[in-house]
Amino acid sequence: MEIAFGPVPSRRLGRSLGINNIPAKHCSYSCVYCQVGPTPVTEIAPRAFYSPENILHDVRERMGAVRALGEPVDYLSFVPDGEPTLDIRLGAAIDALRPLGLPIAVISNASLIWRPEVRDVLLRTDWVSVKADSVDESLWRRINRPHPGLVLADILEGIRVFSRSYRGMLVSETMLVAGINDTEEALAATASFLRDTGISRSYVSVPLRPPAVKDIRLPDEQAIARAWEIFSAAGVATELLTESEGDAFAFSGDLRKDILAITAVHPLRESALRALVEKSGASMTEVDALIAAGELKAVAHAGEIFYVRRLAPGIP
Ligand code: SF4
Repeated sequence: MEIAFGPVPSRRLGRSLGINNIPAKHCSYSCVYCQVGPTPVTEIAPRAFYSPENILHDVRERMGAVRALGEPVDYLSFVPDGEPTLDIRLGAAIDALRPLGLPIAVISNASLIWRPEVRDVLLRTDWVSVKADSVDESLWRRINRPHPGLVLADILEGIRVFSRSYRGMLVSETMLVAGINDTEEALAATASFLRDTGISRSYVSVPLRPPAVKDIRLPDEQAIARAWEIFSAAGVATELLTESEGDAFAFSGDLRKDILAITAVHPLRESALRALVEKSGASMTEVDALIAAGELKAVAHAGEIFYVRRLAPGIP
């Protein structure tokens, strides 16, 4: 298992070296749009996964390989196959990475932020993204399909408390799913929460990558524009994340490893995959071999072909 991957071009963080500190797929949610697939069993009790020493070792190695090829890295980002705060040693891993001298980001679904110890860990970072798909209990259940032990009111209060003491950049991400959280009423309620919480910037995204539940629909342009208008009118600095990140994926020297590490977290558009293959000097035959070996899968979504990592048996 590759813990460090990329750097992946990120619209928010520049060239972000990803850290996959959670094996597929341990999460407190099973979002209908999840690009990693459905969560077999949701969980909320933090526990140990990889050791901080292993994480540091992998990140160091990856940075060495990437820098030797002249590729810059702007951020170290915890963006795993599940929820990063389920890792009870996340704080120790952050401390271990500090001497590398790069800013550290965590992309979290915020479902455990009601726990003071989770907030303490996130306070040590430079940039945190919290998921805010809906502040309505029934919509939250429909979209995020949370562990039964979670309470939305506690999560929202946890985000408020965290925001008051955090010195880094706190952003939110709202994934719009057509017919669920893209109505005027739902968006206005989310916008009020984000404004009152003092979120620095809100990102509105759409399920551009193949979702866990096949029949969910992309919102149309009108719904996307409506979301932006409602959020902005509420005084929330808002950006849309409705475009592709581009095709500038780094090549570290081992094409097979690169493809598997990136697609475990981030499905690759066909154009991006072809660019990566070309950069390596190999051919698409290597991709075909990964598909034949059952490690990679090509899927169609929103008129494009994506390549995704095959997960454990039982996860489509
Ligand atoms: S989108 Fe994130 S929070 Fe939702 S199920 Fe997938 S990994 Fe978990």
